[in-house]
Amino acid sequence: MLQLGEVAAGSRHDLRVGLSPDAPDEADLREDAAGASGYVHSYETSSRYDGPGLRVVLFLSGCLLRCTYCHNPDTWHLKDGTYVAVEQVIKRLGSFAPALRSLDGGLTISGGEPMVQLAFTRRILAAAKEMGLHTAIETSGFLGDRVDDRFLSAVDLVLLDIKSGDPETYRKVTGRDLAPTLRFAERLAAIGKPVWVRFTLVPGETDDPANVEKIAKFVAPMKNVAWVEVQPFHQLGAFKWKAMQIDYKEADTIPPSAGLKQRVLAQFRDNGCRVR
Ligand code: SF4
Repeated sequence: MLQLGEVAAGSRHDLRVGLSPDAPDEADLREDAAGASGYVHSYETSSRYDGPGLRVVLFLSGCLLRCTYCHNPDTWHLKDGTYVAVEQVIKRLGSFAPALRSLDGGLTISGGEPMVQLAFTRRILAAAKEMGLHTAIETSGFLGDRVDDRFLSAVDLVLLDIKSGDPETYRKVTGRDLAPTLRFAERLAAIGKPVWVRFTLVPGETDDPANVEKIAKFVAPMKNVAWVEVQPFHQLGAFKWKAMQIDYKEADTIPPSAGLKQRVLAQFRDNGCRVR
C-alpha cells in the first residue's frame, strides 16, 4: 500500500525528487477509474500567467516527453512526486476558491503532463467546475487521444505547447512524434475549445524559420486559438538537471536575443496569428 503524503505548496522551480520511490513508471500507470489519488509535484497560488485572472497552478508528476530544454525534469517521473489523496487536493483548492472567483481566476493543471494521470486530473477539474472556477490544462497534446469529450467539457481553456512544427525537429527536441499533438489541436479547433498556443523558442533547436513557419501556418486558420505565446528558453531549470545527474544538452544554450524573438513573433504575425 502506497503511503499518502501532503500536497505541497511551493513553486515549479523547487527541486523535488524521490518522494514516492514505489511509484510505477509513468508509461505503465494503471489508474483507478475514480482518480482517488495521484502524484503531485507542487502547487503555486498566485500565477497571473497560466490562464486568465489569478490562478492556482497544480503541477502533476509524470510526462512521456523528454524535452532537451525541459525546465522541470523532476516532473517526468511519478516516483519523484508526492502521492496524495484527491480529496486533499480538492479541499486545498476549495480554500482558495473564493479569492480565485473574486479575481476572475481559476485552476490550471500543468506538469509534467496532466493527461498521464487522466482520472486524477478529471476529478480535480470536475471539482473545480463545481466550485465555479475557470479551468485550464497545460499540455503537449501528445496524449490527446486518451481524452474523451466528458474530460474536455470540464476544461475551459487549453494551454497547448506546440514544441515544433517540423516532425523531425519535434522528435529531436522531445523524443516523440508530433502527429498526436496536431491531431489534438485539430480536435480542439473542431469543437471550438479556447486555446492559447505556447511555443518555446530555443536557439539552435526550435528557431529555424521553416520550423516556426510550419506552426504558424497550422495555427493561423484556427479561430479557437486566442494567440500564440512565444516563450524564450531560459536556464532556470539547469540546476535540476545537474542535481538529478541527467545529461543536459542545452547546458551552453543561451536565451534568445530580443532580435530573434522579434523575428519569430513577426513570422507568426505575418501568417495571421495573434501573438503575445
Ligand atoms: S512536455 Fe513539459 S514537462 Fe514534459 S519534458 Fe517537455 S517541457 Fe518537460
